[in-house]
Amino acid sequence: MAVGSIRRAGNGLTVTTRPPGQPWAQIPSCNKQDVELAVGAAQRCFTDGAWSRFRASERGRLLRRMGDVLVSHSVMLADIETTDNGKRTCDIEPGLRTWLADSFYYYAGLADKVEGSVIPVDVPDMLNYTRSEPFGVCACITAWNSPLLIAIWKIAPALAAGNTVVLKPSEYASASTLALMGVLEEADLPPGLINVVTGLGAETGEHLVADSRVKLVSFTGGLFGGRRVAELAAQQVKPVILELGGKSPQIVFDDADLDVAVHGVMSGIFPPAGQSCVAGSRLLVQRSIHNHFVDRLCTATAKARIGDPKDPLTQIGPISNRAHFDRVLGDIESAKAEGAHCILGGEALHPEGLGGWFIGPTVFTQVEPSMRIARNEVFGPVLAVIPFDDEDQAVRIANDSDYGLAAGIWTRDTARAIRLSDRIAVGTVYINNYFNATTQSPVGGYKQSGYGRENGLAGMKAFLQTKSIWLATAPYQPNPFT
Ligand code: NDP
Repeated sequence: MAVGSIRRAGNGLTVTTRPPGQPWAQIPSCNKQDVELAVGAAQRCFTDGAWSRFRASERGRLLRRMGDVLVSHSVMLADIETTDNGKRTCDIEPGLRTWLADSFYYYAGLADKVEGSVIPVDVPDMLNYTRSEPFGVCACITAWNSPLLIAIWKIAPALAAGNTVVLKPSEYASASTLALMGVLEEADLPPGLINVVTGLGAETGEHLVADSRVKLVSFTGGLFGGRRVAELAAQQVKPVILELGGKSPQIVFDDADLDVAVHGVMSGIFPPAGQSCVAGSRLLVQRSIHNHFVDRLCTATAKARIGDPKDPLTQIGPISNRAHFDRVLGDIESAKAEGAHCILGGEALHPEGLGGWFIGPTVFTQVEPSMRIARNEVFGPVLAVIPFDDEDQAVRIANDSDYGLAAGIWTRDTARAIRLSDRIAVGTVYINNYFNATTQSPVGGYKQSGYGRENGLAGMKAFLQTKSIWLATAPYQPNPFT
């Protein structure tokens, strides 16, 4: 836990993190008192500490310094994250020094541009205006698949808006977040501005959400955890931003550039071994090209280099932790039992000389939209292929999901792509591309993929609340009946 300085958990307990291969770090398992300490530090910083005296432009300057220190430590941070969760270093390091540093610079620029408005109200002799104000202490809870990315997407807008933060990373991958805090302290943070509590979700996480001094929760994780956090927060009518999972369709029409589409579909799921919220895990292919497309996809995927996530030549990395590895293999077995045909992969791999948990990229055909493999998020390298005949059927199958995070459309017919993008109920549509994200553009889910948005102007507004101020500009005549 970091409250201006690093402390052990009060109870002295730790959780051993198990990166691909072997235990390598022990992190504090924070109890209620630890959480209270961290929230107290954040609360003091918000109300009476240095932060409350920071002008908006000073917040911007601090965020710029945070971007600078992130750039200068990107290699070390990426190395720790790869060791911790098995995400390929080449998927982490360039992002840290470019578009994730840009998150700090983007919100640094916005910090002093939050304007209210003067409203022409229907009441004479009144000046009515609005202010956008921070909530106070924000709890930011992150998932294990991309701890640094998710933390930065939350910290930068939360601070730019004037809040303070208590961050809770996943018990499975906390090391890079703790290292990030060490790095950000070089930017000369006021004490208590950002605090980290580590430990178990059901314990440390719930104490954090339930603390009445926490005024907003921003959560990235799975449906089960998201629902529980929303329930807890509802008891105090606390706003929640939920960035949850998906079962995102990749829709390939017969007029698509098939070379590009094959690689777009592959790279939309397999490189992080499917452990990405926007993984395109349902492949909807027009029946006229179904067999041809699936053959090409499997031939290309079978050649992928699977192995060490620190090797720049590796194309598909490991599953992050043992518990999840077992879950993914269980989902594969359940798909086979349901009658889906496994035409590629479907089993654990043991690359020579490497520990860790690897699963070969897996493709299922003969998938019915009602099967679990077509409905549940696997969060592993598993693609479920479903044929469709025409546009209407493609839309019906795409929308037949509890989730609504993202969709990919592959076609040369731009009018059709735009028509479909209007009809598919998801937060992000990619047309002839997949997996893009930048600081400027909002991301978030429809349906059970969550609510609220991160990134862009919307990402900053999520951390602000509006106050309306009425000022009498002439002697006030109270109405005795109101
Ligand atoms: P979880 O929901 O299991 O955990 C997410 C975070 O919440 C972890 O820090 C976890 O702690 C914590 N947590 C779990 N239960 C509670 C609780 N009851 N109260 C408070 N905190 C809790 O998700 P995963 O870590 O397994 O992440 C994978 C999921 O995240 C996938 O569904 C994926 O799609 C989604 N995701 C969504 C993204 C988006 O932007 N939409 C981006 C990335 C991932 P602990 O791990 O210690 O239990």
